[in-house]
Amino acid sequence: MRLALALVMVALLMAVSIWRDPSPATALAQARMPAGTAHTGKAFRFNKVAEGVYHAVGTGALQVVGNSAVIVNDDDVMIVDDHVSPAAAWVLLEEVKELTPKPVRYVVNTHFHFDHAHGNQVFGPNVEIIGHEFTRQMLAGGKSAAMPLFRNYVAGLPAQIDGLRKRVAAETAPEAKAKLQTPLQAAESNAASQAEFRSVPPTVTLRTEMTLYRGSREIQLRFLGRGHTGGDVVVFLPRERLVITGDFLTSGLSNLSDSYPDEWVTSLEALKKLPFDTVLPGHGEAFTDKAKIDYFQAWLRDVWTGVGQLKKQGVSFEEAAKRVDLTRHKGNIPAIQGPGIPVIGAQRIYELMDTPAR
Ligand SMILES: [Zn+2]
Repeated sequence: MRLALALVMVALLMAVSIWRDPSPATALAQARMPAGTAHTGKAFRFNKVAEGVYHAVGTGALQVVGNSAVIVNDDDVMIVDDHVSPAAAWVLLEEVKELTPKPVRYVVNTHFHFDHAHGNQVFGPNVEIIGHEFTRQMLAGGKSAAMPLFRNYVAGLPAQIDGLRKRVAAETAPEAKAKLQTPLQAAESNAASQAEFRSVPPTVTLRTEMTLYRGSREIQLRFLGRGHTGGDVVVFLPRERLVITGDFLTSGLSNLSDSYPDEWVTSLEALKKLPFDTVLPGHGEAFTDKAKIDYFQAWLRDVWTGVGQLKKQGVSFEEAAKRVDLTRHKGNIPAIQGPGIPVIGAQRIYELMDTPAR
């Protein structure tokens, strides 16, 4: 009788455990698959810049916002920056499988901004996420997600979707109507993924520099001083003579909302000392023209003094943002459309000038 009871108990326990966990592998895959991965066509163009090194630029099929870089080593893969959402990072991982069967073991966050680090949550426990100690501080506990830059971005998504839906509805030409479906689907997928976002900080941090030797590949991570944020890291491949810069140096202008424009000029001087030929920026296409660094430094100097002068005149930061005129840089920086800079940039400069000890 006692034995029969024990057998029944064992059978019951087994049934319960089977019911709770049909297959650990399936459960894990399901748990990691984020919402909002729906898209049509390839989400990335992988531009090969050196043997095993690719600049991954979004095609528009999915909202990814920033670029990433993929470094295929002898036995593993490093990804630099993981885009705007878990879905974008997930799809990047899927498309990287078409480049190589090797496992992704490292992710670098060049800085904490949402369009560079908000895919972190899709990477499993075998992947180390590397970033500056400051990047960790901003992502740990969701500090950066509470900031206006990200909150304004998420708050603007419903209007973006609404606008695209109206344009689709109003379009009568079938071909143009079909074309508009791509940005609409991308916007809807992005909103679905943002709803699942969790702030995941780097698991490995650095304060000045770090080098990874992965087989024949040498990968240097360098903090060159404060610039776009308080903790930008550039990834330098000495043998390939290329540098992956995030928003520390883009092909156009970087936003100033968390920047140190005056220190940034000096930090860019340190970048110039690295022996590289090619820049893989966080936004825009890869380039080799080093004069772009001088142009950007000149712009930063003029933003700082121009906004500073308006501040001294007692002008509000909103007004200074409208009035500061940097159009003389238009020849070197085509992204400049007319006078003015985003309000958030002028506000940042006012804050910095009011905080001498920083
Ligand atoms: Zn940024």
